[in-house]
Amino acid sequence: MHFYGSAKINNRHHLEIGGVDTVELVEKYGTPLYVYDVALIRERARGFRDTFKRLGIKAQVAYASKAFSTIAMVQLVKEEGLSLDVVSGGELYTAIAAQFPTEKIHFHGNNKSIEELKMALDYQIGCIVVDNFLELHLLMDLCEQKDTKTQILLRVTPGIEAHTHDYILTGQEDSKFGFDLQNGQAEKALRMALESDRLEVLGVHCHIGSQIFDTTGFVLATKKIFEKLNEWKSGFGYISTVLNLGGGFGIRYTQEDEPIPASSYVEEIISEVKNQVVKYNMELPEIWIEPGRSLVGDAGTTLYKIGSTKEVPDVRKYVAVDGGMTDNIRPALYQAKYEAVLANRPLDEVEEKVSIAGKCCESGDMLIWDLPLPKADNNDVLAVFCTGAYGYSMSNNYNRIPRPPVVFVENGITQLVVKRESFDDLIRLDVALKEQVKL
Ligand SMILES: *Cc1c(COP(=O)(O)O)cnc(C)c1O
Repeated sequence: MHFYGSAKINNRHHLEIGGVDTVELVEKYGTPLYVYDVALIRERARGFRDTFKRLGIKAQVAYASKAFSTIAMVQLVKEEGLSLDVVSGGELYTAIAAQFPTEKIHFHGNNKSIEELKMALDYQIGCIVVDNFLELHLLMDLCEQKDTKTQILLRVTPGIEAHTHDYILTGQEDSKFGFDLQNGQAEKALRMALESDRLEVLGVHCHIGSQIFDTTGFVLATKKIFEKLNEWKSGFGYISTVLNLGGGFGIRYTQEDEPIPASSYVEEIISEVKNQVVKYNMELPEIWIEPGRSLVGDAGTTLYKIGSTKEVPDVRKYVAVDGGMTDNIRPALYQAKYEAVLANRPLDEVEEKVSIAGKCCESGDMLIWDLPLPKADNNDVLAVFCTGAYGYSMSNNYNRIPRPPVVFVENGITQLVVKRESFDDLIRLDVALKEQVKL
C-alpha cells in the first residue's frame, strides 16, 4: 500500500490525512467528499519555488488553476507566493474574488472572448498569453479603445511530442494551441506584436503536454525555442526576457508511475537554458513554469460510501460507490488509473479483485478496474488517492447529481472550503414553464 503526503493509518486503524480521521470526516460531511492535504500542497509548491531560489534564477512558478480552482485554493497559492494561470473569465473571477495579486496572473486559452480580454485588461493582470491572430488583433483594438497597454507572451508550438496520452498532447505541430514555430506563424505574430505600441512582448510560452515523467521534452523544447530566439535576435533585434516552459510535470497515480522530484525538472530546465544562453551569447531570461497537477494531484483524496455490488460469475465483481464520473471523469475521459483502499479498515487483508463502478447511467462510468480489496460491503468507505487535479474542476451534474464538498485538512484541523451542492442549487438556473410545478 502506498500513501501520499501526511496520509497514514491512525491508532483507530483508520486512514488519516493531515492529522484528521477520514471516517470522522465522512460522518461529519458525508460522501462523496474531496479531502485535500494542505501540507502536501505547500511542500509541492516549495519544491518548485525553492529550487529556482537556491540556484539564484529569476523565475515565476505559476499554478495552473484549471487543475483545481476555488477561492481557498487561490488563497493558498497566494500564501505560498506563487503566480497564477487562468484560462477563462470564471477562473479569473475566482482569482479576483480571492484577492490574488493581479500582476501575478497570467491568462491562457485558445479562444478568449472579447469579454474575457476586456476583463483581463480592466484588472491589469500580469500578462496575457496570446494564442492566435484573432486574439492579437482583438487585444490591440481593445488596448487602443481603453488607451492602455499590456504585457504578453506568445504561445508557440515547438513540435515536440511528450510521451503521454494523446488527448492531452498539446506541444506537437497538429495542435489547436498556439503559433507554429516552424512554419513562420510565430515569427509573423511576433512582428505584428512588436509593431504595436500597445503590446509589450515579454517572451514566448510553450506547453508540451501533461503527466510527463522525464525532462527530455523540456530540454528539446528549450533548444527549439532558442534556435528561433537566435534568428529573431539577429533578424530584427528581438530579445526575449521571459521563457515560459509550461507545466505537465508527472505525478504518481499508481505504483506504476515513477515521477521525478520537482527539483530535477527545474535543475534540468535551468541547466539547458544556461547552455543555450552561452551557445547564442544571450542574456539569461526569466524562467517561468506552470505546474497544475503536480501541485494538487496527490494532495487530493476522494472518499465514497460503498453501495451495491454485482457479481458476474467467472468474469468480475462490480462494487458501486455513491459518486463516479460526475466527481472524477478522468477514467472515462482518458483511461486514467487510480488506487484505493478501504478508509475504515485499510489494514484488512486483501481478499479479491473488484472493479469500482460509479452510479451514473453510463457503462463507461467506472473508476477503477481490478482493484485488490478486502471483501467490502455497504458500511465501508472507499478512499481513492490522487484525485486532487482535474477531479473537482472537471466535476459535473450528469444525472443531476450534486457536486461533492471539498475540505482542507492540515495539522489536525479541518476547513470546509466548498459546500456540498443542494438539489436547490441544481435547479437554481432552471426557468419553469408558465404552469409552475409545485414542489
Ligand atoms: C494545463 C496546462 C498546464 C498545467 O498542466 P499540468 O499537467 O496540470 O501540470 C500548464 N500550462 C498550460 C498552458 C496548460 O494548458
